[in-house]
Amino acid sequence: MELWYTGTRDTAERVTASQAILRGLANDGGLYVPTELPKLTVPVDELAKMSYQETAYEVMRQFLTDFTEEELRYCINSAYDGKFDTEEIAPLAAADGAYYLELFHGATIAFKDMALSILPYLMTTAAKKNQVKNDIVILTATSGDTGKAALAGFADVPGTKIIVFYPKNGVSPIQEKQMVTQKGDNTYVVGIHGNFDQAQTGVKQMFSDAALAKEMDAAGFQFSSANSINIGRLVPQIVYYVYAYAKLYAEGVIKKDEKINVVVPTGNFGNILAAFYAKNMGLPIAKLICASNENKVLYDFFSTGAYDKNREFMLTSSPSMDILISSNLERLIYRIAGDDAEKNAAMMQELTAKGRYEITGEMRAQLSDFYGNYAGEAETAETIRALYEKTGYVIDPHTAVASCVYQKYKNDTKDTETKTVIASTASPFKFTRSVMDAIGGSHAEKTDFELCDELSAAANVAVPRAVEEIREAPVRHDTFCETEEMPAVVKHILGLA
Ligand SMILES: *Cc1c(COP(=O)(O)O)cnc(C)c1O
Repeated sequence: MELWYTGTRDTAERVTASQAILRGLANDGGLYVPTELPKLTVPVDELAKMSYQETAYEVMRQFLTDFTEEELRYCINSAYDGKFDTEEIAPLAAADGAYYLELFHGATIAFKDMALSILPYLMTTAAKKNQVKNDIVILTATSGDTGKAALAGFADVPGTKIIVFYPKNGVSPIQEKQMVTQKGDNTYVVGIHGNFDQAQTGVKQMFSDAALAKEMDAAGFQFSSANSINIGRLVPQIVYYVYAYAKLYAEGVIKKDEKINVVVPTGNFGNILAAFYAKNMGLPIAKLICASNENKVLYDFFSTGAYDKNREFMLTSSPSMDILISSNLERLIYRIAGDDAEKNAAMMQELTAKGRYEITGEMRAQLSDFYGNYAGEAETAETIRALYEKTGYVIDPHTAVASCVYQKYKNDTKDTETKTVIASTASPFKFTRSVMDAIGGSHAEKTDFELCDELSAAANVAVPRAVEEIREAPVRHDTFCETEEMPAVVKHILGLA
């Protein structure tokens, strides 16, 4: 059965999965959503025997119905291969009564690799299917991890170019080094004097600029998005929740149909939305626990029903969650509005105009599966330290935000029995300084690479390949601009007048 995609602000638009992947953003600035959420058809006893790649096929074929089996298996097998440092792709680590789902074993040691290693294949396959002649230009705003993961995924993929904008002072030194040393003749990295939201807004404006699109088309280019709003990012993220569940079942940790909790350190709301979709597919998930850092817009949203981005923007030790507009939340709003595009569009209009909207009581009632809370900076560091001292297991600050919120959840609800999976979204080696500061000792004079060696000794884990690779790598990108100059920079890169 064919699954169609429609826009969250215009349901008259109906496209196939491959068209949705190519376009990225829907009409009127909306996001593509499937017209219905498919059900998981494979019993857990079978899932329990499957590899990551086989699980990926079973989940993704339900969403990408216009891809042939051969096409989809080609995409999956090209993505989840030796780029990952473990055959399991997403292993589970048990520590202190929770199960950490390690989503950081790919090329850039963070969870965005899970989706961005497959997106280029989904996109070039989708282009072929739709007789696209233009080169695809990937335009991305990043708060750190997306940028490098997208660059690594698209580097030297024929028929594509990738341009990444990042906030000059809003990413970690290792994140910046990873991006500016990126190889590939089709890769471009630009630092902006502004924050992530400004970079994201600039990118969104270019996407909806009809004159620019026309100019590009004449020159043989078209934009597509690798941001987490692309349905080709979201769908591969559903896979690891199914995989984790099946694995817990295979290991006898849970019984058949036993419900688990899922805790997700959240920024743009993509990862937790994937868990929500997994639950709606029939995966036995009890609570979706949404963890925020001090930019706690989502916590306030879940506790009051009002989304309000009018507040101070905080720079924290979990920079990939330093976000005031969680773009993917729109897909949840659309759904709890009863798939009502008009209602959703009105709220998003309010968000643009006033920076704030409020959902109705009826909509709020449908959020009972979610629990939201947040962790402050001191709590986050203390969580890293305490877990390390108790178990020897070291987690990064993003994962620590989730771990801390899980403790708060248990204290609040007394639900200590439900087995719980915590999405571990970055390797501690990606945020080494924060991690080593949390664990203790004085590090001010040490370089990040020296700290990586210390962390390796403390955690008894080898320094990941991704860190070793950039130690000596030369800087290849040194373009900086003001927010307003972003379109001019893109035109320059593409050789447009
Ligand atoms: C992107 C990112 C997040 C947030 O994920 P969303 O899907 O944007 O909510 C959390 N942790 C890390 C390390 C990330 O890179």
